[in-house]
Amino acid sequence: MRHIKRVAAEADISQAGKASSVKTQEILRRVWGYAEFRGLQHDVVKNVLAGRDTLVLFPTGKGKSLCYQLPALCLEGTTVVVSPLVALMRDQVEELKELGVAAGALWSDQSPEDAVEVKRSLRAGTLKLIYVTPERIAAGGLDALMGGKSVPLIAIDEAHCISVWGNNFRKDYLLLGRLKEMYEDVPIIALTATADPHTRADIVRLLNIPKAEIFIDSFDRKNISYEIMPRNNPKGQLLDFLKRHEGDSGIVYCLSRKKVEETVEWLNENGIRAKHYHAKLDPAVKAANQDSFRMEEGLCLVATVAFGMGINKPNVRYVVHLDLPSSVESYYQETGRAGRDGLPAEAFMVYGMQDIVQRLRMIEEGDTTDQIKRIERAKLNALVGICETTSCRRQSILNYFGETHQGRCGNCDTCTKPIETWDGTEAAIKALAAIYRTGERFGVGQVIDVLIGKVTERTRKFGHVDLAVFGAGKELNISAWQSIYRQLLTLNLIRVEHDEFGALKLEDAAAAVFKRQRQITLRRERALPRRSATNSQGPSFSSRSALSPEDREVFEALRQERLTISKELGVAPYVVFPDTTLIAFATMRPRRLNDMLEISGVGQTKLARYGERFLRVLQQT
Ligand code: ADP
Ligand code: ZN
Repeated sequence: MRHIKRVAAEADISQAGKASSVKTQEILRRVWGYAEFRGLQHDVVKNVLAGRDTLVLFPTGKGKSLCYQLPALCLEGTTVVVSPLVALMRDQVEELKELGVAAGALWSDQSPEDAVEVKRSLRAGTLKLIYVTPERIAAGGLDALMGGKSVPLIAIDEAHCISVWGNNFRKDYLLLGRLKEMYEDVPIIALTATADPHTRADIVRLLNIPKAEIFIDSFDRKNISYEIMPRNNPKGQLLDFLKRHEGDSGIVYCLSRKKVEETVEWLNENGIRAKHYHAKLDPAVKAANQDSFRMEEGLCLVATVAFGMGINKPNVRYVVHLDLPSSVESYYQETGRAGRDGLPAEAFMVYGMQDIVQRLRMIEEGDTTDQIKRIERAKLNALVGICETTSCRRQSILNYFGETHQGRCGNCDTCTKPIETWDGTEAAIKALAAIYRTGERFGVGQVIDVLIGKVTERTRKFGHVDLAVFGAGKELNISAWQSIYRQLLTLNLIRVEHDEFGALKLEDAAAAVFKRQRQITLRRERALPRRSATNSQGPSFSSRSALSPEDREVFEALRQERLTISKELGVAPYVVFPDTTLIAFATMRPRRLNDMLEISGVGQTKLARYGERFLRVLQQT
């Protein structure tokens, strides 16, 4: 029988269930250097320390790790953390060590020397936290791993991996359901940033924690701004965007490997330091590029969605999508990798009708049931709806996840540059007629050629030049018609037929438009941003942007020192101190070590290790 001995490490909170909040606050301050808990963190910590099972649903960046790390410091014995990715585990262990907390990690193909060392500390009982992969538990069992030592708490990170509903299902996670049987008295804390009710129910059921208290924080990521535009000139649009982010690190997502390769090459030619990442890359290159992204600043990583879950870097300043993701869930998960540190960050996407056609093809060709295909189509439609919305994007996104938001967030493109609408009934009729008159057999490119009266081999060959509708839409240009067709799609007036190479078909609802029984309001696309130097004058989202020129200079010097330390130690710069802490140093200019303790992110261990070095930089600038 394993007992949960709570709080023995801290003498004055040693009575089970009575972990005083004063004490947890004190640990938060001393070890992490944080002035206060964020959001629901404190409630979660109290629940865990009371020995209850817990499910934590926080969006990325709200600080899930602390929810089990802080209790681990209050409990006697070694807390077990199950984590799906080696990169993620190592990052966390590195960060904990920097905080002066004894932690280790075990995974399947670790070097034998490493594993022996970690196991020795584990047996000696010196570790406060041990991170293990589910595969490692599946292979030898947790009991064997722990060598009979008691376990005070089990944390299951990225708990959605247990559910087949998400896109990160991992078979080995299913075995974690047995932990509750084997360690019935040990509280489990499961954590995820995926909040949909299906996944949530799966986690509780499959982990055997029916009584778990559930803590859900708002999924709004206020510091991330959203911008979505039609893809007119993708390279120019990307370059304009990246001009605002000189010196920042960010991710550019592309759908295909080929596009990843091309984009990297092109960015490098244009003076932007970029590296690539996709599933088929040579493993050594993949690891090296991922490592560069962690260790360096100002790097643009161009990737397929294969680059994802292991990213712990808090100062990712932007996430760009050059292609439409598969669903709102994916979009939100991917954009959520920006701005974990709470500083301003940007999510930028360009997309077009071709993306929708391509996504539909991927769905239809997928090896799944009709029911799943239907769900996938609905998910895609929801995302296209958000792309085409005329109201606040944040509101639409949060509504999709079942959260209400009053709109007008002031931090998305539809809020900052309101969309004009117009009565598009006549235009819609023309657009629908062009589909109908050409026999519902052609894709968007051809029907637009017909509307604008473009004589091509194909319009001639199919006799389209002789139709009454040929040239009937000359008053609008190609991109306006593209926008109209995308909107007709989201209004469910037309559909794209995958089996017929993306041919547009009329839906029944189109009849009412033809008869003028239904008025169609459309969004007016903004004119293309000009490719000129003025674009780079736009708001800068870099972490330095809010600083005065003098403070910025100090910040850069501090950043340099951080880089030097990070190289000396072989750890990522953000493990030494996050940007937020350096910004506070630069603006508050502490003169003594004790003053530094007032700054968020400066705990006792880091102060002792690096305080002097950063003070020296502050004195010299
Ligand atoms: P998540 O796993 O939910 O994405 P993390 O645990 O990685 O979030 O935390 C995100 C960032 O917020 C980290 O840089 C972390 O150090 C910081 N953080 C967490 N809790 C606090 C707090 N109470 N005060 C200040 N910063 C915090
Ligand atoms: Zn908004």
